[in-house]
Amino acid sequence: MVRVRFAPSPTGPLHIGGVRTALYNYLFARKMGGKMLLRIEDTDQTRYVPGAEDYILEALKWVGIEIDEGQGVGGPHAPYRQSERKDMYRQYAEQLVSEGKAYYAFDTAEELDALRKQLEEAKVDNTSYNAVTRMQMKNSITLSKEDVDARIANGDAYVIRLKVPLKEEIRFKDIIRDWVVVHSSTIDDKVLLKSDGMPTYHLANIVDDHLMEVTHVIRGEEWLPSAPLHILLYKAFGWKAPEFAHLPLLLKPEGNGKLSKRDGLLGNFPIFPLEWKDPFTDEIARGFKQDGYFPEAVVNFLAFLGWNPGTEQEIFSMDELIDSFTLDKIHKAGARFMVDKAKWFNQHYLKVKSDEELASLITTTNTDLSHHLTIKLVRLMKDRVTFPQEIVSEVPFIFEAPTTYDEEIVKSKWNDDARKAMGVIKDSIQAIENESFTSQNIHDTIFPALESAGIKAGKVMQAFRLVITGVGKGPDLMLTLEILGKEDVTKRIENAIL
Ligand code: GLU
Repeated sequence: MVRVRFAPSPTGPLHIGGVRTALYNYLFARKMGGKMLLRIEDTDQTRYVPGAEDYILEALKWVGIEIDEGQGVGGPHAPYRQSERKDMYRQYAEQLVSEGKAYYAFDTAEELDALRKQLEEAKVDNTSYNAVTRMQMKNSITLSKEDVDARIANGDAYVIRLKVPLKEEIRFKDIIRDWVVVHSSTIDDKVLLKSDGMPTYHLANIVDDHLMEVTHVIRGEEWLPSAPLHILLYKAFGWKAPEFAHLPLLLKPEGNGKLSKRDGLLGNFPIFPLEWKDPFTDEIARGFKQDGYFPEAVVNFLAFLGWNPGTEQEIFSMDELIDSFTLDKIHKAGARFMVDKAKWFNQHYLKVKSDEELASLITTTNTDLSHHLTIKLVRLMKDRVTFPQEIVSEVPFIFEAPTTYDEEIVKSKWNDDARKAMGVIKDSIQAIENESFTSQNIHDTIFPALESAGIKAGKVMQAFRLVITGVGKGPDLMLTLEILGKEDVTKRIENAIL
C-alpha cells in the first residue's frame, strides 16, 4: 500500500512551498488509496520555534489536507514527533558502528577547524571529513579500542559519523528527474548522531521513513542533494529505499530565483497560508486566509505550481485533483509563483459562492453591518471583486456621502444639462414610496422623466454617478441608489447642486 509523509520541521510558519509538498503527497495518497502521514522533524533544537507545530496543523486543516496517521492523529508508529523518538535513533547509529559502517569521532571544534584550514590552504576542493582525511582525525578508526572505550567511559563528547565508501557510484531513479548518479567522493562522512545525543536530520529521516513504512518520498527539490546520502544510508542498514520524487522549485514571480519567506514580507503578496505572529519579534506576516483567499482557490492554484493535467481544464476541486493527479505529470522546471493567477482562481471561487455565504463571511468580520445591507452589497459587488472584504472596502461611498468630486469628471461632465438633470431626477424620485425604492422602480422613474425634460439620459449618467459617489466609475448605479435609500440620494443631489 502506498504510504507517503509530510515531514515539516517546526522552524517557523509553513511556507506556501511546504503546503504544495503536503498537497502533492496528499493527492498521490488519495489517488492510490494509500495513507498520508504527518511527522514533525524537530531534532534541531536550536532552530525550534514555539507555535510552529500548531501552525502547521492548522494550516493543513484550513486547506483541507487530511492526515491519516501521525502528529495530531496518532497511529501504530507513534510517537510522530522526532524529539520523542530520540533514544531509538541512537540504537540505529550504534548498530552501524558495530557493523563497521559508522564510527565514533571525538574531534573538538578546534581540531575540525584546523582540518578545514589545512584543506583550504592545500586548495583541496572537497574540504571535508572523508575517507582520506578521517585517517588523520581522532575517531574509532584511528584510535585503539581501549582508547575509544576510555574516552566514552570518561564522558568525552563524540559524534557518530557515517563511513562513506571512497569509490562508489551512487545511482537512483527519481520519478521526476529520472536517473541521478553521484560519486561517493563528493559526500563527506556525515554526522548521524550529534554530541547532544540527538540524531541529525539524515539519520532520523531515514530511520523513520523505514519504520513508518513510507513507500514514496515526495519532497522539495532542495532535498535532492541529500538523496544520494540517504541511498547510502538505506544500503548501510540493508533496507529497501523508498521511491523518490523531488518537486520543482517555486520561483519568484519575476522568475529570478527561488521564492523565499522574505518575498512575502517584502513583496505585496502572502507567502504563508495563515497569518503568522513571530514569537520573537511580535511581527505579523499575513497569510492567504487573512488576505481573503478561499482554501479551494489556494489548493487549485498550488496544484498547478509544478503540475498540470495535460488538458485545458483549470478549475479543479480537491476531488477532481485527486482523480487527475499523477506524479509523471509533475514538471522538472521551476514553477513561477504568479500572484495574478492566484487572484484569478480566487475570483472564480468567489463568484460561485452563494450571496448568503459571502454575506455571512463578511458579517463575521464586520459585525456592525446588517445582514440585509450586506446581501445587497454582495449583489452590487460580487462580479467586480477578488476578495470578499473588497465587497465592503471598495464602496466607501455607500457609508459616507462624497465630500469631494473627481475633478476630471467635473470638468468633462458637470454642465448645464447635468445640473438641470439632477433637478429632474431629484423631483421625479420624490414620487417613489420609500418601500418601493428599488433599482427597477428608480430606473423606470428617472429615465422617462429625463426624456420628457428633453435630456438624453446617457449624457448625464456619469454626472449623476459623480453626485452620488464622488467618482466617475463604479458598480451598478440604480442598485447603489436603492442601497442608499431615497432620503440619502435626495441629500446627495442637493449637496452637489448647491
Ligand atoms: N524536515 C524536512 C523539511 O523540513 C523534511 C525533508 C524531507 O521530506 O525529507 O523539509
